[in-house]
Order: sequence, then structure tokens, then C-alpha cells
Amino acid sequence: MEILYFYSSSVIIMDYFYIGIDDTDSPDGMCTTFLASSILNEFERSNIKIIDYPRLIRLNPFARFKTRGNGGVSFKLDIDEDTDLAKEIVLGYVRELSMFDCDNTNPGVVFYEGEITEEMVDYAFKAIYSIITIEEAEEFANHIGAEIYKFKKGRGIIGSIAAISCPLEDYTYELLAYREPSRYGTLRNIDYDSVVRMDKETYPETFENIDGKYLAIEPKTPCPVLYGIRSNSPEVLEKAREMVIPNETIADSCIFKTNQHTDMHIQNADRISDMKQYSCYRIRGTVKERPHIIEGGHMFFTLYDDSGEIECGAYEPTKDFRKIVAKLREGDVIELYGGIGEQNTFNIEKFQVIKLNEFVYRNPVCGCGKRMSSAGRGKGFKCKSCGKRIESDEKVPEKIDRTLINGKFYETPVSARRHLSKPLIRMDLD
Ligand code: ATP
Repeated sequence: MEILYFYSSSVIIMDYFYIGIDDTDSPDGMCTTFLASSILNEFERSNIKIIDYPRLIRLNPFARFKTRGNGGVSFKLDIDEDTDLAKEIVLGYVRELSMFDCDNTNPGVVFYEGEITEEMVDYAFKAIYSIITIEEAEEFANHIGAEIYKFKKGRGIIGSIAAISCPLEDYTYELLAYREPSRYGTLRNIDYDSVVRMDKETYPETFENIDGKYLAIEPKTPCPVLYGIRSNSPEVLEKAREMVIPNETIADSCIFKTNQHTDMHIQNADRISDMKQYSCYRIRGTVKERPHIIEGGHMFFTLYDDSGEIECGAYEPTKDFRKIVAKLREGDVIELYGGIGEQNTFNIEKFQVIKLNEFVYRNPVCGCGKRMSSAGRGKGFKCKSCGKRIESDEKVPEKIDRTLINGKFYETPVSARRHLSKPLIRMDLD
């Protein structure tokens, strides 16, 4: 409940009208943000104003039916606005622009008038942390008195309610520029040097613009988006927009307020055994063995604690991040951020080194300079070179040079980063 102001001893409380939209696009086209932007243009023509920025809310990255980044959008309006007209516009645009031909596109629209209650906030976190069914979402909508519109299976209501309900304590902004419809599906040709200049001028207030030669602002799908620039500030986004040379006409653009890059999906797990599949965590543990790489270029190692162990992966798309992971050694204590996906493997987004193991235990070196070998179980060591034997079975600690640094964070490259992952540049690190 938002308390607007105090007058004498009475408190005036104001409810709002909220709109949530999700699941309108497919891998072949469209983007729910583009639909939202088109609706906002129509609102403007109809003199309907929204409060604050439109919101783009990213939900559980492991939701099964997502198209790409599992995002829903929402708007907040004053209840004095023409909400009937607003509803008509929203439903009209969803009917007109959704990719209904795709089996996996099941739009859902939610209208809600009132305050954002605690149970709604809990629902939003559930949509970010775990999996919700359509039935559950529908039941919840009825419970809070929201009006729902389901198209086909209407799965989008799951994300629509969450997009309305999600609190934004930490947030960022994204400027999305849209293409002329005639360009959809054609190659994008944004001037690379202009993005480099923009990055130089505006980083770290904008981030994730480029990754070497890779233009991270440019989607690689046939959707209407020409580019998306992410920032802590809408003002800086305006500056960035001026600097980027698109080499094609920008048909429209829109700035969204979003939970992207806030780590909102990460829950603190005390023990490995507390973690569940399809959820994301921060977890501390000890590296069991040196990481190994498998066919396809994916790298794995096991992390353990008193409660159990889990296989952790740095997948091929994380590129050079794997070279950092490869430096981990048995006995290193680290804190991982990431989530447990389809294969029940912990997918690493970033990690902090808590305590490096500075020693390895090896067979002793003989007086003649050669490393000794085991003489058999319980029989100590022998030197194959000079024949010397020692009785003790104990390996000796040897200090090793480590290039990883205690306390330091290491993250996946921009090109492989999740929308929700907080980049180190946004973290409060000393
Ligand atoms: P894009 O980001 O390109 O707009 P998308 O990746 O957001 O697309 P959608 O088309 O929105 O994908 O599909 C995601 C679907 O998953 C929606 O129907 C949404 O309601 C649903 N969904 C979102 N969060 C959850 C969740 N926690 N559990 C189950 N379903 C979810």
C-alpha cells in the first residue's frame, strides 16, 4: 500500500492499476518489449500516461517454456486514467502482434487494481526462484482479484503476475531500439567503432556493450530489436543512444526499468544438500579435484561440503572463463554463484576465491634428487634411481604457486552472461 501524504491525522492511501503481459513472442520473431513499446505509443496517442518507466522483469532462467531470456513486462497507471480504454488497447495489441502460430507462444495478460501485497511479492520471488504452473498462477490471480486473459494455453499469466508484483530495490535500465519492419530477419550492421566509443565514454554507467569483437548490444535473432544498451541510469542511456551509429533507421525505442543484472535470482544456500534443481544459488564449498574438460569443450569439477557434493560446470560458451576455472585445485574453498539446470549440474556464473590451497601433498624427493615412488601399501617409499628406501608412508606438503587470488571474484564473459547476473562492475567490491 502506498501512502501518498499525511493531511491532519488522516492517511490517504492510493491504489494503482497494473498491467502485466508475457509470452507473446517466438524464436522466429516479435519481442514482448516491442509489443509493450507499441502499446505505450498507443497510450500516448490516447492520452493515457503510465507512472515511472515500463518494467521488464526477468524470471527464473530455468523456466522450461521460455523463448530466450524469460522476461515479462508491466506498467503502472493511476486509477484515474481511462483504464477501460487501456485494457482495450492492450488486448488489441496482444491479439494483433503475438506469434500465435508458434506452439510455444501462449500469451497471458493480467490487469490488477490495488496495492502490491506481501503475498504478491512472495509470488514474484517464487517465479524467479522456482517453477509455477498455469493452474497455480490462475488460482493466485483469482485469490488477489486480478483479471486474467489467457490466449491459447495462457501460460503468460505466470510471468504477467510476477512482472506486476516484483519489487525493484536494486534495478537497472535498458534502452531498446527497434527496427523498421522491412528489416526484420535481415543482418544488422551497427557501426562497431561507434559502440566502442560509446562504451569508452559511458562505461561503467553502461555495461555489457562489447566483448572483444562481439557486439553484445546486438541480438542475433530475427526479433524487432536492433540493439539494447544496459545502464544504471536513463540519462546515460540517452547519451549512449546519441553515440551509436545504427546504419539503419530506428523505427522506435523505449527505456525499460528492469531487474536485469541485480542477482535477484540468487538465493543463499547454507549447504549443498539444500539446493534444488532449476534454482540459482550462492554456495560455499571445497573443490574436490582438479577441473577436467570433456568433448564439446565443457569443463567440470566437483564441489563438496559436509552435506554432500555437486558437479559444477563452466560450459563451452563461457570461453576463456574456463581457463580461470582450470586453475582451481583440490582443497580450494570457493563461493559459487549460478544455478542447477537440466543435467543437475551447477552452472557457474561467477565465483569468489575464499581460501586457496597453497600446498599439494606429494611423494618425497630422494637425497639423489629424484622423486620417490610408493614401495607398496604401508611400506613407505623407494627411489627407483638410487634404491634408497624410507619407512614413512606420509606424503610431504609442497608449496605451489597459485595465480588465482584469495578474495577475488571471477565472472563469465559478457557474451555468456545471464540477464539477471550482476556483473562485478555493479558489485560493491573493495
Ligand atoms: P523473450 O525474453 O524473448 O521476450 P521469453 O524468454 O521471455 O521471451 P516467453 O515467451 O515470455 O519467453 O515465455 C516464458 C514463459 O514461461 C511464459 O509463459 C511465462 O509466463 C513462463 N514463466 C515465467 N516464469 C516461470 C516460472 N517461474 N515457472 C513456470 N513458468 C514461468
